[in-house]
Amino acid sequence: MDHKSADKIQDLQYFGEFGGVNPSISDSSTYTFISAKTMFDTFEGNTEGCYLYSRHSSPSNLYLGEALAALEGTESANVYASGIGAISSVILQLCNSDEHIVSSRTIYGGTYAFMKNFLKKFRISTSFIDITNLELVEKNITDKTKMIYCEAVSNPLLEVADIKALSKLAKKYNIPLVVDNTFSPLSISAAQLGADIVIHSLTKFINGTSDCVAGAVCASTEFCLQLKDVNDGAGMLFGSTLDSLRAASILKNMRTLHIRMKKHSENTLFLAEKFENDGLRVVYPGLPSHPGHKAFRNQMNIEYGYGGLMTIDVGSLDLANAFMELMQRENLGYLAVSLGFYKTLFSAPGTSTSSEISVEEQIEMGLSEGLIRFSIGLDNDIQKTYTAMKNCMLMLGILTEQIITT
Ligand code: PLP
Repeated sequence: MDHKSADKIQDLQYFGEFGGVNPSISDSSTYTFISAKTMFDTFEGNTEGCYLYSRHSSPSNLYLGEALAALEGTESANVYASGIGAISSVILQLCNSDEHIVSSRTIYGGTYAFMKNFLKKFRISTSFIDITNLELVEKNITDKTKMIYCEAVSNPLLEVADIKALSKLAKKYNIPLVVDNTFSPLSISAAQLGADIVIHSLTKFINGTSDCVAGAVCASTEFCLQLKDVNDGAGMLFGSTLDSLRAASILKNMRTLHIRMKKHSENTLFLAEKFENDGLRVVYPGLPSHPGHKAFRNQMNIEYGYGGLMTIDVGSLDLANAFMELMQRENLGYLAVSLGFYKTLFSAPGTSTSSEISVEEQIEMGLSEGLIRFSIGLDNDIQKTYTAMKNCMLMLGILTEQIITT
């Protein structure tokens, strides 16, 4: 299924104030009114096209929101100062005290910490379950449950959620399905598959230049307006507003998202196939050996591939650390968290992005300490990268064969 998101993003036509090919940036926190009555109406949310104060909305943020709504095919989208700003706003907009969430257990560590620790303040509880087990998902839904939450492709284990099936379940119980689609923009059109609310950390692939932190919520206009409500909108009242300058730069980067996603996917598939063939424990949804391969294939927009993330389990944390340090010395990428950069980024999630999850829970979900998460870059010559990575593995004894010369 493809609602031609990339074309829809490209089709958005804006002119800058002086006929520029990029929209002008609204470099103001506040806006003037000729009439005091219009100011009051704008505050109440009754005047289209009028801006009051940039925490509420700004032209630059609205332009970026339009492009994100086009990406997911939703009515509207709001932008935030971070992915977790978007996630926390959505959750607290939907849940009141003493209510409940059913969530995938393999999610970004920050989201996990928010649900498990922070929401305790409001006695909001979460059942963390294996999201690929639909029976278990259903069993955990109670009359207090306010949402099913998952990542389309999970961080860091790359589990694939069956969004259509989860959406059916959510509809049966009249609760929204909230999907974090940070790992698979364009490849998976989560809203088209039935997700009610789609969240992105724009910090990753969508921006793609690792120079800022930002987030988005793509949903119905009604829900996006609820988040912005001056009286009880979590987005409005938590204040995680994106700065207009950043919104403008992210919008420009979004113009090349389709090209970048194809290259990230092509390079990652190449390396995943090679390293699996070499006998390594590789996890990549594009490999037929991946338990979620079929689920991904059934819901993907084929031209964008299976995404830019893969994991390799090298057996121990010491070996993982030595390998990552060596790869960085060889300029094969950076030992850094985050993803979606032009250069390959790698980290051991157990001791970094998922360290909020207890060791026991990590073991239960299959997150082993020797697991390295790779966000594969836009390398022009991926065969050369493969050879160089393999040489690092041979040097450390992760693989045993002769050193390859290029
Ligand atoms: N969702 C996923 C899947 C992530 O990987 C991350 C960050 O790593 C986030 C959300 C949070 O995004 P941000 O760091 O932009 O707040």
